[in-house]
Amino acid sequence: MNIILLGPPGAGKGTQAGRLVSDRNMVQLSTGDMLRAARTSGTEMGKIVADVMDRGDLVTDEIVIGLIKEQLESGKTGGGFIFDGFPRTLQQADALGALMDEMGLTLDHVIEMQVNDEVLVKRIVGRAEEARKAGQPVRADDNEESLKVRLLAYYKQTSPLIGYYYAKGMLKSLDGLGTIEQVSKDIASILDA
Ligand code: AMP
Repeated sequence: MNIILLGPPGAGKGTQAGRLVSDRNMVQLSTGDMLRAARTSGTEMGKIVADVMDRGDLVTDEIVIGLIKEQLESGKTGGGFIFDGFPRTLQQADALGALMDEMGLTLDHVIEMQVNDEVLVKRIVGRAEEARKAGQPVRADDNEESLKVRLLAYYKQTSPLIGYYYAKGMLKSLDGLGTIEQVSKDIASILDA
């Protein structure tokens, strides 16, 4: 079973992906995590993407498609892939479809996590404040200014994927505003249907 978790920043994609990894042995492919790891390890690519990420804009399709290709070809499949934060543009969605076809993989569901924008902003700014109080590292893009850019990128570049996957008959939408437990249950009922 291979799925995409689709939704704006702060919708809870990472949290739900983490649960699917522990509950179902699925493999989480988060391009955001891969890019942050590249920055931490100081690779050339990490340096190239740093400013773009901090600003809240999308990095190039070429870079993220390359990262995903590498992971798909690594042979680690577990209980299936969870694409988390990828694809974010129509070009990425087409590239993913082509890559999966080539490898004989199928995309089973695209799960759209719907959330209200005001709640998102509060969640993300709250996430940063909590981390700061606890003395934990705060994501450089978890501030109101970058968040606006990230939301705009979502609506301009990523939200067309909702129609794209609907037309392909793959879209399942759920209310992302429930408790973590409730959202997990809703996802499980899609996966186990
Ligand atoms: P995330 O952790 O998914 O919120 O991603 C953090 C940042 O990484 C985004 O704001 C983008 O700058 C970059 N990024 C992550 N995934 C992608 C993607 N699929 N396409 C373009 N940029 C991405």
